[in-house]
Amino acid sequence: MQTNTKLIHSIPVDELTGAISVPIYQTSTYVQEAPGINKGFDYSRTNNPTRATLESLIATLEEGAVGAAFGSGLAAIDAVVKLLQSGDEIIAVDDIYGGAFRLFTQVYEKFGITVKYVDSTEAENIFEAITPKTKLIWIETPTNPTLKISDIRAIAKIAKANRCLLCVDNTFASPALQKPLTLGADIVIHSATKYLGGHSDLIAGLVVAADPTIGAQIKFLQNASGAILGPFDSWLVIRGIETLPVRVKEHCRNAEIVAEFLNNHPAVSKVYYPGLSSHKNHEIATKQSKGFGGIVSFSLKNDTQEAAFEFVKSTQLFKLAESLGGVKSLLCHPASMTHKTIPEEKRRAAGVSDSLIRLSVGLEDAEDLVRDIELALEKIENSTRQKSELKKEIIVG
Ligand SMILES: *Cc1c(COP(=O)(O)O)cnc(C)c1O
Repeated sequence: MQTNTKLIHSIPVDELTGAISVPIYQTSTYVQEAPGINKGFDYSRTNNPTRATLESLIATLEEGAVGAAFGSGLAAIDAVVKLLQSGDEIIAVDDIYGGAFRLFTQVYEKFGITVKYVDSTEAENIFEAITPKTKLIWIETPTNPTLKISDIRAIAKIAKANRCLLCVDNTFASPALQKPLTLGADIVIHSATKYLGGHSDLIAGLVVAADPTIGAQIKFLQNASGAILGPFDSWLVIRGIETLPVRVKEHCRNAEIVAEFLNNHPAVSKVYYPGLSSHKNHEIATKQSKGFGGIVSFSLKNDTQEAAFEFVKSTQLFKLAESLGGVKSLLCHPASMTHKTIPEEKRRAAGVSDSLIRLSVGLEDAEDLVRDIELALEKIENSTRQKSELKKEIIVG
């Protein structure tokens, strides 16, 4: 069976009623015949049939052993960090998602878990940074927002040789494009809020473990800490996943057109998109994923926050909002929004310049999206020109 057929038909038809859509078991508890005698469910924090369907679906999709659904992407990340002990060390990609950075530094460092940030686009940097205390390598590929690509297969080898776990945040690629566990990673996490949900209508997180023992530890932590995903949101994510491959294909197609357009525009100084042959790790991206995703970032020739703010306020179709991966196009200014918790120096060093703008290219028609960007860029160029003319007028008199 081909991938899409397998995906759609791994979502079961309800045995009890024949319902083609997975029932939403909106219940906290389950009646027992006798103490301890039940139908496999006793309390919905521990297990719920709707959530269980989602968990087995994501495990199938990522080709792992165990899946677990959480109340947010950060709750999923939190569960993975809880596999560690005080004194352990994490090596993480340097332009990591802002929320993960905050969780690592402001929550876990005080419990004695330290984090080293490295540029993982060169696997060698990870090799150099590893110490006997390193227990977890954390990468995102592509990263947010500069779309850096790391070689999952090479880093997985380094992790194995050093007996530490490799966790890949696969939010940007989604399993429609990239399956890290098949490349040697141990754990995959998702913010299902993004492409898996796909409609900007929920917050959810997923963890998939390749190894059943690690999977069991994650399931233990899910129940012990309790940050589970509710039945209704589980159902929404299942519904989103049903159309994931077709949506992602179209996101990629639109994003490629947008990236090409930006790449040829005189007001743009740099475009970040793994699909461009000028991208540093374009070759690796081509090897490890089936497409380059729906996110495109770029910075302006006029590299100021002022110009970026004018751009993000000028587009009509691209709406200014945090988040990504939905059917409607969104844009954001990472330096003042998603990455504001990262210190300025660290942020700039990771390539998040003052004018950097991140686009989540949606499912509108590509020509309308390009036109929207074109008009907004014209607007900044006009105000830059006006400003310099005014300056000349005043100074020259
Ligand atoms: C959004 C996001 C997260 C956090 O997920 P939430 O669902 O917002 O908690 C983690 N990693 C990446 C790459 C993200 O884009």
